[in-house]
Amino acid sequence: MFKPINLDDDKKNNENQSGDAEHVNCLIIGSGPAGFTAAIYAARANLKPVLYQGLEPGGQLTTTTDIENYPGYPEGVTGPVMMEDFKKQAERFGADIRWGMATKSDFSGDIHKIWIDDKKLIEAESVIIATGATAKYLGLKDEKIYAGGGVSACATCDGFFYRGKDVAVVGGGDTACEEALYLSGLCNKVYMIVRRDVFRASKIMAERVKKTSNIEILWKHQTKGLFGDGVVEGATLIKNKGEKNEEEVKIRIDGFFLAIGHKPNSDVFKKYLETDETGYIKTIPGTTITNVKGVFASGDVQDSRYRQAVTAAGSGCMAAIDAERYLLEKSS
Ligand code: NAP
Repeated sequence: MFKPINLDDDKKNNENQSGDAEHVNCLIIGSGPAGFTAAIYAARANLKPVLYQGLEPGGQLTTTTDIENYPGYPEGVTGPVMMEDFKKQAERFGADIRWGMATKSDFSGDIHKIWIDDKKLIEAESVIIATGATAKYLGLKDEKIYAGGGVSACATCDGFFYRGKDVAVVGGGDTACEEALYLSGLCNKVYMIVRRDVFRASKIMAERVKKTSNIEILWKHQTKGLFGDGVVEGATLIKNKGEKNEEEVKIRIDGFFLAIGHKPNSDVFKKYLETDETGYIKTIPGTTITNVKGVFASGDVQDSRYRQAVTAAGSGCMAAIDAERYLLEKSS
């Protein structure tokens, strides 16, 4: 299923770069449910995994509110608490958990090279990529102008600053509903800016939003820009874009929260790994095997369909088992 990639030049360029490299049996990149589950399984299989957690330790779940759909937590659990539990469990079996971002990769040889923070070189027998996905922005210049001044892609991180104020959430998926519900408990009023006249979210989430008195859903609205003196004071929206009754609408808000989906964090590996058009790493269906031998992908970075904590954890387990079998075959 994978197309051949010509790596001859890379092989030549990297032959003499080992220097002070650290040799690792199983390198795991990413610290969400996929990465930690891979670490638990890999550690228990004596693969001596080294896991690097990046800028968002714990992954996206640490920016979510209560998780009610993860089996084993009948009363629900917060993302940060659950991720701390995952981490402790991985450490209990000896996983070596470190800080640092994978900034460059070279998968041209038998031993896979990963640079951490552009400095430290790790040479790994096997690599499990579990780098997840990152929140998307609309691409408006105002999002940059007001970054740190009212624009956020994480209600749980920043909602606190908008207590008693009016805010807007962009998007109509489960994330947008979750963020709007969270903010409704803190803020005076929450607008939901939804570009179609239906939600993409699950029925249960959509119903909860509709029943919440301080959430106003602005159907068929799109954001044109933001305004305010240094900080966000409002947004200009287009209602019924492209239709006869198109009109411009202004809302007064202090916070503008993006919840329109995510981009897989695969850029560092794209030169070697096959991805789809969005950047999700391709794996052989039913496995975590990528087009490069000894490199496995798990969690949201390879899953555009389910993107759940429990499916990410499941694929982290699969990646550890795939890595274990690969290493066994390699050594025999
Ligand atoms: P999503 O399901 O892809 O929804 C993205 C939303 O943003 C859609 O409503 C989409 O509109 C809108 N959107 C995208 N680009 C836009 C743009 N440029 N301008 C305006 N609106 C735009 O993403 P998600 O909500 O982040 O959810 C991702 C996955 O995680 C889903 O499978 C979801 O079910 C799951 N999830 C589950 C839970 C939970 O169970 N508690 C919580 C969060 C997420 P259109 O509908 O018009 O495309």
